[in-house]
Amino acid sequence: MEKTYVFGHKSPDTDTITSSIVMANLEQQLGNTEAKAYRLGNINKETEYVLNYLDLEAPELLEKIDDNANVILVDHNSPKESVDNLENAKIQKIIDHHKIAFNTSYPLYVRTEPVGCTETILYKLYQENNIEITKEIASLMLSAIISDTLLLKSPTTTEEDKEAVEQLSKIAEIDYEEYGLDMLKAGTDLSGFTIDEILQLDAKQIDFKDIKSIVNQVNTASIDDVMQMKDQLEEGMNKIIEEQDLDIFMLLITDIINSNSQVIALGKEAKLVEKAYNVKLEDNTVLLEGVVSRKKQVVPIMTENA
Ligand code: MN
Ligand code: MN
Repeated sequence: MEKTYVFGHKSPDTDTITSSIVMANLEQQLGNTEAKAYRLGNINKETEYVLNYLDLEAPELLEKIDDNANVILVDHNSPKESVDNLENAKIQKIIDHHKIAFNTSYPLYVRTEPVGCTETILYKLYQENNIEITKEIASLMLSAIISDTLLLKSPTTTEEDKEAVEQLSKIAEIDYEEYGLDMLKAGTDLSGFTIDEILQLDAKQIDFKDIKSIVNQVNTASIDDVMQMKDQLEEGMNKIIEEQDLDIFMLLITDIINSNSQVIALGKEAKLVEKAYNVKLEDNTVLLEGVVSRKKQVVPIMTENA
């Protein structure tokens, strides 16, 4: 049997890493014994917390894939966020909760649903296929849903995510509120990261119509702590803007306790933030109240106003 590479997006988050592991396991259970999880970048501290909690190894790093390799994409479908030579691969399946941003010349299995987390879809796939959800798999799924929905508080949260969290907490025997807060807080620890690394942690290349941009999101329990690095962050952002010829770089510093985001916006189209949110940037920054979801509260609003 040929090998199948299962992986999520670059700048991997907890959903991407755990979905790769969980999807590879589902494939194996269904007879695709050569399915294996990979990652496209470094593990962040939140995911490290989850893997340590479960005493699991991180998936192997994948630098490039061979031509015609079988791949399954989870938690992304945009080639920009995927492995560099994706165009030479044979995509077999996509399991995702983002808007469709790809095209192939051949048919494939695509399962996307507008839910808060890829793991919520995988939870359903396990049930549909009558595959047992073990304590470990339940813990992985639960961690990702908590992460993507910020403890079910993000506007991306659906009833299905809530239902999954309730059931998975029982299987995992985890008090999800207590565990979830510890896990999210572990992810806000920026010590030991260089400015360049912070700017890569959760960066996504997203174009607002023809405005070329990067939106990076950093979770924190204290916006003030992160804003103390504002000058260095701006210097790093300006460097990336120049290198990648970006029109705008948005850094969202998201307060996971109070559900707000401080945005730093740089680049020649930075004023688009003012138009989109009806706010004034002062010294390149402004607080966006109630904004926590890049997918639901940033991308569509910025695109609409571009
Ligand atoms: Mn993700
Ligand atoms: Mn996700």
